[in-house]
Amino acid sequence: MTGDGTPLEPLWLIAANVVRWRRYGVGGQELRPGTKSYRGGAKVYVIGSRPGDHEVLTTVGRGRHTCRYITLDMATRHLHTFRATLVHSPAVLRRDAEFPVGRAWGCREDAEESAARLEALAAECRGARWAGVPHPTPCRCHDCLTGGALTAG
Ligand SMILES: [Zn+2]
Repeated sequence: MTGDGTPLEPLWLIAANVVRWRRYGVGGQELRPGTKSYRGGAKVYVIGSRPGDHEVLTTVGRGRHTCRYITLDMATRHLHTFRATLVHSPAVLRRDAEFPVGRAWGCREDAEESAARLEALAAECRGARWAGVPHPTPCRCHDCLTGGALTAG
């Protein structure tokens, strides 16, 4: 419900999952589960980003400690499996309405295109973050777990 009691319209947002493990520390040689605020594997909704900067996304998801919905700017590289989704959840829609943020999509088709772009960007950012530095052995980072690590990188 909005302030005047009108139900919020469903919106096309982009769902994504938080990486189970991320590289951390000097040379990315340590591994941490999920992020500081989200559990690994948590589902979040991308509600937008700052103009011209898609390496940081504004997300709504359930926080690691409280399990209550939070709104959080986070690095795109910590997310994967971006997909367009029509959101009906009043809790998510309310948070979206409370935190105005730029969104490059409106309809389903746009959201699907943006999701594909973000998927590629996230992989690119993960590769660039520790460019030229070998992964720890063994490594459980998203790219190693999914077989997506670049052999050259
Ligand atoms: Zn790795």
